[in-house]
Amino acid sequence: MSRYEAVIGLEVHVQLATASKLFCACSTAFGCPPNTNVCEVCLGMPGALPTINRQAVRYAALVGLATNCAVNSYSVFARKNYFYPDLPAGYQISQFELPICEHGFLPIQTEDGEKHIGITRIHMENDAGKNMHSQAENVSFVDLNRAGTPLVEIVSEPDMRSPAEAAAYLKALYGLVTYLGVCDGNMEEGSFRCDANVSLRVAGSAELGTRTELKNLNSFRNVQRAIEYEIERQGDILAEGGLVRQETRLYDAAKNVTLAMRGKEDAQDYRYFPDPDLLPVCIDENDLTAWRNGLPELPRERLARFQAMTKLPETDIEVLVHNIGIADYFEAVAAATSARQAAGYLIGPVLRECRARDIPVDPRCWKMKPESLAELVDMVDKGEISAKMAHDVFGELFESGVSPAAFVREKGLGQISDADALEEVTASVVDAHPKEAAAYREGKTKLMSFFVGQVMRATKGKANPAMVNDLLEKKLR
Ligand code: ADP
Ligand code: MG
Ligand code: ZN
Repeated sequence: MSRYEAVIGLEVHVQLATASKLFCACSTAFGCPPNTNVCEVCLGMPGALPTINRQAVRYAALVGLATNCAVNSYSVFARKNYFYPDLPAGYQISQFELPICEHGFLPIQTEDGEKHIGITRIHMENDAGKNMHSQAENVSFVDLNRAGTPLVEIVSEPDMRSPAEAAAYLKALYGLVTYLGVCDGNMEEGSFRCDANVSLRVAGSAELGTRTELKNLNSFRNVQRAIEYEIERQGDILAEGGLVRQETRLYDAAKNVTLAMRGKEDAQDYRYFPDPDLLPVCIDENDLTAWRNGLPELPRERLARFQAMTKLPETDIEVLVHNIGIADYFEAVAAATSARQAAGYLIGPVLRECRARDIPVDPRCWKMKPESLAELVDMVDKGEISAKMAHDVFGELFESGVSPAAFVREKGLGQISDADALEEVTASVVDAHPKEAAAYREGKTKLMSFFVGQVMRATKGKANPAMVNDLLEKKLR
């Protein structure tokens, strides 16, 4: 296997979060009854004329600016001809020779430090509809609500060398488009999807090997697993002296295999030509400058800022930054209390409870608001509740969204920091265990944890541990 090196290039389709479609005024809302968001343009009726969505052009240019591309002042739509039932016009309107953005790169973190992944081009195109096959009725349906939805396709250079690099690139890109606000980032609904091109070559060789294209990769994990599988599959073929066939393969996540779907088309099969119904897209230099100046804070800058705020390692901060919803939530908590503690709660208990309770990793679905989390962090900080108690009841607080202060008051979970009360408990614990006390005084200092445990048991875990330690040490002197 080590004789070969993997070569990976990704094509990522990003659905732009415009209210209306790319060439008509129909809504892009997801989940509407089939064929309700359609008109003569997106139904491909003869003679209906497309008009370009200005917002989609701006969004596509923003993606180019954020990926260090040249944004072309002049680009052209082209028809990509093919027949499929979900494509009523018989062609997709895309860009071919003159795309809106070209020649960019995206930095990623690898084991060997930072690496730039080249971006060949970014072009605009409209999405197709959806075919739905009913096995029960033995019929197929076509829903054209999605037909005409604006996409950008971001094509990378074959610069990635491992599944981990591919995943890092994809995550970086996902961060950019969601931070730019040009994509809702909903991978289950297909707003961000990826095809992976994979080939092997003898390590060190300059030529590219024959590639396969993997489709249907709808999560970061699947992208990584599918590429891993494909590298192994091709490695086996080459090891036996065979040849890899250039083809499109479908990833089956349940079985973790890729399966041959069809031979791969070449560009000439699509008979591209400039769309005569659409004018070239011209971007004004002033507009472009304004868009560049208006770019929001992007994930890398935010990562650096969060690191300065929390002094936590980059791998932890990445978890906060990756999802803009979580990043904003963290920011809201950190504004009200210790940033470092807030980060710790988000990375640890919050994500754990999401998994355990099947709550989406999306703060919009959380009942616990940032103020409540900040309140809890503060209560631990001030010693009003022990850190352990906070962890023990966190799941309940997170799921219910009740105020931590009210919850603690109601359930009587407050930490006992009253010196007189603790003095009394520690004294009675020591008195109740004369043998252990004697042993401790003779040097068996390990018994301290035994005494602390007894005090905790007596107080149902509510005693302030630092005070208990001090009091016991005095008492056992
Ligand atoms: P298409 O798939 O539409 O025919 P391209 O020829 O532009 O388009 O290639 C698409 C993707 O495949 C790009 O991301 C490119 O980097 C990648 N790619 C091209 N050749 C190889 C190869 N031999 N191995 C791996 N990736 C490749
Ligand atoms: Mg392709
Ligand atoms: Zn329409």
